[in-house]
Amino acid sequence: MSHRSRYIHGLGVLFIAIAAVQSVVKVVNGGVPLEATIDFVLISLPGILFLYVGGWLSSTDLDPELYPRIAIWSLGGVSVMFVFLFLRAVHPGVAASFTFGERAIALALGSVAGLGIGIHEAQAITREREVNQRNEALKRTRRRLERRNRELSQTRDDLEAAVERLQESNERLDHFASIVSHDLREPLRMVTSYLGLIEDRYADDLDDDGEEFIEYAVDGAERMQTMIDDLLRYSRIETKGNPFEPVELDAVLDDVRQDIRVSADETDATITVESLPCVRGDESQLRQLFQNLLSNAIEYSGDDPPRIHVAADRTEATWVLSVRDHGIGIDPDDQDRIFELFQRLHAIDDSEGSGIGLAFCRRIVERHGGEIWVDSEPGNGSTFSFTLPDAVDAPVPADANPQH
Ligand code: ADP
Repeated sequence: MSHRSRYIHGLGVLFIAIAAVQSVVKVVNGGVPLEATIDFVLISLPGILFLYVGGWLSSTDLDPELYPRIAIWSLGGVSVMFVFLFLRAVHPGVAASFTFGERAIALALGSVAGLGIGIHEAQAITREREVNQRNEALKRTRRRLERRNRELSQTRDDLEAAVERLQESNERLDHFASIVSHDLREPLRMVTSYLGLIEDRYADDLDDDGEEFIEYAVDGAERMQTMIDDLLRYSRIETKGNPFEPVELDAVLDDVRQDIRVSADETDATITVESLPCVRGDESQLRQLFQNLLSNAIEYSGDDPPRIHVAADRTEATWVLSVRDHGIGIDPDDQDRIFELFQRLHAIDDSEGSGIGLAFCRRIVERHGGEIWVDSEPGNGSTFSFTLPDAVDAPVPADANPQH
């Protein structure tokens, strides 16, 4: 019990005491015991009510600081009733005055009325404080949200600036790559053609070693030419891609199978394809992606005829496409490296590629907002998987519709 609710308990005890004294006095003065008992009950009832309310208040959410106000209101009720009784007593036109018991009951009723008003007012004050507190909390939340909003706008501005810088940097890189490749191509062509001239004109003067050296030099120059072209194509994946649109991968796979038909027939390859989804992307780049993966699966199939399976799985947000082969596999230590530019795991004599195919694949997948990885064990084949957004949910990357 809060010590403040003792005011209300005190009033309760006071009423019960008055009731007891009045009844005893009545009986002592020769009053009827039944009447004295009824008076006691009538006067002590408000006292019991006060005792009950004193206990009940501590179980409510009313602030204990308000309990004295409730007690004051009760005393106020008593005072009003007291004034009423006094005025009636001194009124010259009123002959019959109230008995002591009637006065006590009237005062008790006045105190109950005051108690009711006091509780009502305390509830109103408590609600008002709650509303004020909630208002304060809302104001604080609003200030926090406004601050967060400002931070977000700042972040958005920073991001926009970063995207702009990135686009400029991409354009500069693209420009740089075209200039470099153009400038390199010319001297390279000179090297190749003069080597050809030497081969034609001085063929008789060259011994076997000389011819072999020239062959190596021409081969090297041709590979350099291919690398320059690949590099240029690689640098343009972002900036010179086609706009994104819905792409039926089933149709893309049909085309790719036509493109690799010769090498597939030569190696007696078996290619199985599950039903593939429609995604959103650049059709020609997706075709290039599948072509690189299928060509690699044929190229690195080992001694047995290649067996390749293309599958599609739906995850919560994206499609996971995979190309599985049963070829030579890849050492776990090399599985990240193979996606870098010009990284090959085999000697140039063993396989034809320039080591840019998978770097191409990764850049294409990244442009489509996905990622690519490989699961493989040496000797047990490889599964290259990549994610692509659904045709419906696909976000449109900032560079998806570049200006040509
Ligand atoms: P390349 O033009 O040499 O094929 P890639 O970038 O396509 O270049 O591949 C990089 C290297 O990854 C290859 O040299 C090869 O060693 C390895 N590789 C790629 N695909 C496979 C595969 N399906 N199975 C085994 N090794 C692979």
